[in-house]
Amino acid sequence: MTSEIRFIADCMLGKLSRWLRICGFDTLYYRQISDLDLLAQAEQENRVILTRDHVLLKLSQQRNLKTILITYDLWEDQLKQVVQELNLKTPSQVLRRCLNCNEPLIKVDKTQIETQVPAYVLDTEREFSLCPRCGKVFWPGTHWVEMRRSLNKLFGEEK
Ligand SMILES: [Zn+2]
Repeated sequence: MTSEIRFIADCMLGKLSRWLRICGFDTLYYRQISDLDLLAQAEQENRVILTRDHVLLKLSQQRNLKTILITYDLWEDQLKQVVQELNLKTPSQVLRRCLNCNEPLIKVDKTQIETQVPAYVLDTEREFSLCPRCGKVFWPGTHWVEMRRSLNKLFGEEK
């Protein structure tokens, strides 16, 4: 499945990383990481490297690691580039992965998170997901609708 493809992005690609997570892709991103550490982790975990750095590209090619040199400045164009180069299917559902720590979210029942969510959200939302690592609760509120809309604008409506 294409959704099993995994990424590691260099320090310059924070926004792209966030959007790849929004799309459900396993994407590691560190604000600071040395080239050698990044290469080692990509190799160990079989991750596609996303970089804007020609030096890193060269190093990764010497190691035969799959790498995409991101050539655009805007995250919209960057995301399109990744999707096109790897021929990825953009996911039809968002909200599957924690935007902070990349962990897959777990669907939870209202009763499990009612102390962590504002009352008006409990009243108006029905689906909740929990990040098992950082404990953040997510729900498909208005900004998720906005994200979906942005993706639809980029890639066209899904199914
Ligand atoms: Zn988290």
